[in-house]
Amino acid sequence: MKLNIAFEKETKLEFLLYNKIFEHNSIYFSNPVQQSKRAKIGSFLVCFLNTDFENIDECADFISKYCFENYYKLHYPNHPVSFKFIRYAFDSKDYKRILYHISKEEQERFIYAKEIFLKNLKLPYNVDIAGKNDDEIDENDKIDDDGLFSKEDENYEVCGMTLKEIDEELKQSVKCYDKYLDKKIENYEKYITEYKEKNKEQYEAFMQEFEKNKKVYDNGYMEINTLIEDLTVDYTFIHYLYAIENVFYHNIPYAFTSNHVISILCIEFREFVSYPKNIIRKCQNCGKYLIPENLKATKYCNNIFENSKTCREIGKEKSYKNNLKSDKLLELYRKRYMSLASNNSHYHTESSRIKFEKYKSEGIKIKEKYLNGEISKKEFKDWIESSYC
Ligand SMILES: [Zn+2]
Repeated sequence: MKLNIAFEKETKLEFLLYNKIFEHNSIYFSNPVQQSKRAKIGSFLVCFLNTDFENIDECADFISKYCFENYYKLHYPNHPVSFKFIRYAFDSKDYKRILYHISKEEQERFIYAKEIFLKNLKLPYNVDIAGKNDDEIDENDKIDDDGLFSKEDENYEVCGMTLKEIDEELKQSVKCYDKYLDKKIENYEKYITEYKEKNKEQYEAFMQEFEKNKKVYDNGYMEINTLIEDLTVDYTFIHYLYAIENVFYHNIPYAFTSNHVISILCIEFREFVSYPKNIIRKCQNCGKYLIPENLKATKYCNNIFENSKTCREIGKEKSYKNNLKSDKLLELYRKRYMSLASNNSHYHTESSRIKFEKYKSEGIKIKEKYLNGEISKKEFKDWIESSYC
C-alpha cells in the first residue's frame, strides 16, 4: 500500500499512514492495516533527520519501520504479492537479506536527501554531499573545457571516425551554437534597450516586480522538488478509513500518496515551511533535531539524555552555570581572595594570616552554597563584605 500523508492547516497536524513490518515467531509479515501517526506538522521529517543513514543498521531500521513494503515492490517488481489478508511474509533469514539489500541500494539516496533537507532548512549541512548554494559557487568549481576523451582513446574509431575527429566536430558545433546564442542575446539586449528608452517607467515597474518574484522563486526549494519521484493526490481517504484513522472530522481537503518515502517527506517539507514561523533546530546538548514550540524558547529537546535528566533540564543547568561565569559577585569573591592572599604574603602578620585562612576555609563552603542556589545573592554579598571588618 502506498504511503499517505495529509495535513490540517488550522491545527498544524499531519496524518501519516505507513507500512510497518511485524515479527511474530520469527516470521516477518506486512500488516494488513496501515499504521497511522498523527502528530505536529514536520514530525516525520524530524524523525527522518534524526536517523543516521550512514549507519546501515539505522537505515535498515527506518525502512523496516516505515516503508519496507514499498521498496520491496520497487526492487522486486516480479515477486508475487498475495491478495490475501497478509500480503507478504518472510522467514527471518530471507527478510534480513532482502532488507539489507534494499538498505544498501537506498542508503546513498537517503543520505543525499537528508543533506538537501538540512541545506534548505538553513541548518548546518555537508557541502560535499549537497553542494554549495548557487551564490556561493566559485571559480574553482567551473567545468574545464578539455576534449571529451582522454589521450589514449583518441584514435579509437566509431562509425569510420576517430574519437578525436568526433571530439573536434562536437567542439565546432558547440562553437556554432555559442555564436548563435551570442547573436540572440545581442539582439535581445538591443530590443530591451530600445524598449527601455521608449517606456522607461513601465520598464522600471516591471523590473521591480520581476526581481521581487525572482527572489521568491529562487527560494522556492527547487532542490526539494527534484527529489520527488512520484506523488499523487487522493481525495477519497480510503486508506485512512481502513486504518481507522478518523480524518473525516478534520478540515483536510486531500491526502498525498507515494511509494517513495522521500517524496512524502518532500511534500511534508513544503507544507512545513509554508508556515513562516515553523523552524527546526538542533538540540545544543544531544545534537538531535527538534521543532521548538516557539521561536524564542527551545535550544534543547525534551528527550532523556542521561541519569533520567532531559536535555532541557541539562540545558537549564548549563545556562545557570554560564550565567555564573559572568557573575559580578563571583568576581568580587575572587578579587577579595586575591587581595587577602597578597596581604598575607606581604606582611606576614598574625591577623592577615587568620583573615586569609578564615576566608579560604569558610569561602569554599559558602561559594558552593551560592552556586547550588542554597543561599541568596544578598547573603553571599553580605558574607564577602563581612571579611572587610
Ligand atoms: Zn537533546
